Amino acid sequence: MARAYTPALYVTRALGSHKWLVDGRELIDYTMGHGALILGHAHPAVVAAVQNQVAHGTHYGAAHPLEVEWAELIVSLVPSVSEVRFTASGTEATMLALRIARAATGRDSIVKLRDHFHGWYDAVSVDLDSSGSPVTTAGVAEAVRRDTHVIDPKAPETLAPAFDDRTVAALIMEPSGARYGREPLDPEFIRAARALCNETGTLLVFDEVVTGFRIAPGGMQSIVGVTPDLTVFGKVMAGGLPGGAVGGRRELMELLTSTLKHPGTFNANPLTAAAGLATLRIVANGAPQRAADAYARTLESEWQAALDVVGVRGRVWRLSSIIHVQLEDAALHARLADALRKEGIDLLNTSAFCSAVHSLVDLDQSVFAFERALRELVSDR
Ligand code: PMP
Repeated sequence: MARAYTPALYVTRALGSHKWLVDGRELIDYTMGHGALILGHAHPAVVAAVQNQVAHGTHYGAAHPLEVEWAELIVSLVPSVSEVRFTASGTEATMLALRIARAATGRDSIVKLRDHFHGWYDAVSVDLDSSGSPVTTAGVAEAVRRDTHVIDPKAPETLAPAFDDRTVAALIMEPSGARYGREPLDPEFIRAARALCNETGTLLVFDEVVTGFRIAPGGMQSIVGVTPDLTVFGKVMAGGLPGGAVGGRRELMELLTSTLKHPGTFNANPLTAAAGLATLRIVANGAPQRAADAYARTLESEWQAALDVVGVRGRVWRLSSIIHVQLEDAALHARLADALRKEGIDLLNTSAFCSAVHSLVDLDQSVFAFERALRELVSDR
């Protein structure tokens, strides 16, 4: 996910559902910390928890009670998780999950799905090009690339053969489908993947960095009804500060107390623990998610109606509080986010992360802004 737009946006302040630019302009924010801020910017409970903690120290070089409470809350919300290990980011958490899987299985290779994002490090920076051949970003060692196999979930028949030689340590996926539900996964595919992992002794890793605690207190896995071996968290669980976690079955997580090393200066740091715990306590009952979903449901239908009124062919759909927009005309689609920004609303590319604090005034303004942006796009065509 990028912070780089052209022209770049420089933000000086954010509160609730809004942010303000250096030139004083105000935007309704739907990037929401790249999905982290389901309670909006600077939620009072999170601010208070962080302010209190920063005055009590940000690093103890020792364990602390907050991390225990934080882990216990995660364990209580996600039934597949018996133990938790904290990291300093979502990227590190997926990296750790794959290390646990390799240690547990004694195997090296991993299977990932096309367009599914798990961070920027080498093992997951492999994808398929338009002809279906593996490609990496520059700087990835060939030896690493060879151990990552990419399957296209739109060709489910290619899944089973990838497991034939039983050398796969882990199958990692975003259970929402790529880009937090922009390319949904067939639940049947997820169930087949679970069965295949069981048959072949492969660990199933769900990357719930975006979906965890946002889609529901129990994450996407509580919706699809498939239990992973390991789950990766980030974003919402860290309350808008840098952080992540891996959780899973006890016997897998216990490898971390024996042969598997995972040092890190900021793992489970008290400041992130304070923000994460304050956030998770509020979202634990599901009410903020329901509020964000309800807002998103209305916005989704209003934006679809605006497309129809202006006569732009396209589709608006939604996974819980995350709305996706796709215009049929590729040139128009490429200009949509910028046109929306000019009208005062900021999406993450063409996806909108709604929060529990977006208001009815935001809703009205977002509908008008969307319609104005569409008219402007069409008039410049
Ligand atoms: N997995 C998914 C599904 C993500 O969307 C992201 C970040 N956008 C990551 C992992 C990496 O998390 P982080 O940016 O905290 O390293």
